[in-house]
Amino acid sequence: MSHHWGYGKHNGPEQWHEIFPIAKGERQSPVDIDTKAAKHDPALKPLHIGYDPATARRLINNGHSFNVEYDDSQDRSVLKGGPLDGTYRLIQFHFHWSSSDEQGSEHSVDKRKFASELHLVHWNTKYGDFGKAVQQPDGVAVLGIFLKIGSAKPSLQKVIDVLDSVKTKGKSVDFSNFDPSSLLPDNLDYWTYPGSLTTPPLLECVTWIVLKEPISISNEQVLKFRSLNCNGEGEPEEQMLQNCRPHQPLKNRQIRASFK
Ligand SMILES: [Zn+2]
Repeated sequence: MSHHWGYGKHNGPEQWHEIFPIAKGERQSPVDIDTKAAKHDPALKPLHIGYDPATARRLINNGHSFNVEYDDSQDRSVLKGGPLDGTYRLIQFHFHWSSSDEQGSEHSVDKRKFASELHLVHWNTKYGDFGKAVQQPDGVAVLGIFLKIGSAKPSLQKVIDVLDSVKTKGKSVDFSNFDPSSLLPDNLDYWTYPGSLTTPPLLECVTWIVLKEPISISNEQVLKFRSLNCNGEGEPEEQMLQNCRPHQPLKNRQIRASFK
C-alpha cells in the first residue's frame, strides 16, 4: 500500500493490514450479528443518551466520509448506561454507505445489510481526551444505527443540505445547533460486543452498541452522500461511492442483546 488508505483496489480494506497489522487482530469490526447466537443479557441496562444540540460545531469532508463534529470539552453531550461504565462524550458522528441500496452498512444482521449505517462516536471521559481513549480497551463507545431506504428522515435534511458546500476532501463548514437524538429510532434495544474502529488505525478500543431498529432515509438523501468526492478541490473527480469495511471474524467474542 504505497499511498494513503482508502476503499479502492490498491489501498482498500484487503491491504490495510500492511500498514496497520492490528487489522488481523482478535477484536476487529464490523461483524455480522447472528441473532440466534447473540445472547440476551438481563444485566444490560437501558441506554442514557443526553445530547446538547448547542455542542455541534462543524461538518467536514475527510475524503472517506463526512464528520459532524461536536465540542467535547465538557460533559454536555454524553452517552451512559447500557453496557458502559462511566461517561462517554460525543466527539463526532458520520455515516458509511455504498453505491447500492442493498449494502452500505458495515454491520449486518443475519447477513442482511442495510443501505447505510450511522456511527455516533463517544470517548470515555476517564481517559481525558479522544487520543488517549483510543489506546484503551474501554476507551470508545460507538452507537451504530442502520438506515434503510424508505421515507425521508426530515431531521437529517439539515445535514444533507450542507453537503454541496463540502464536496471535496478537506472542505468544512460551520455547523451548529443539531441534535443527534433526532436521528434515533423509537426503540433503543441493542446488541453489544467488544470491537475496533472500522477505519485505520483500526484500534481495538470500541464497545459497539448497535441498535436493532433501523431508521429510514429517502433515496434522494442517500444519493447526496454518494455525490461527495474523495479527492481534493482541483484533483480528478472520484465520487465517494463506497466506504464500508467488510465483515471481520468474530473469533472469541460473544454478542449480547439487551432484549429477548
Ligand atoms: Zn464509522
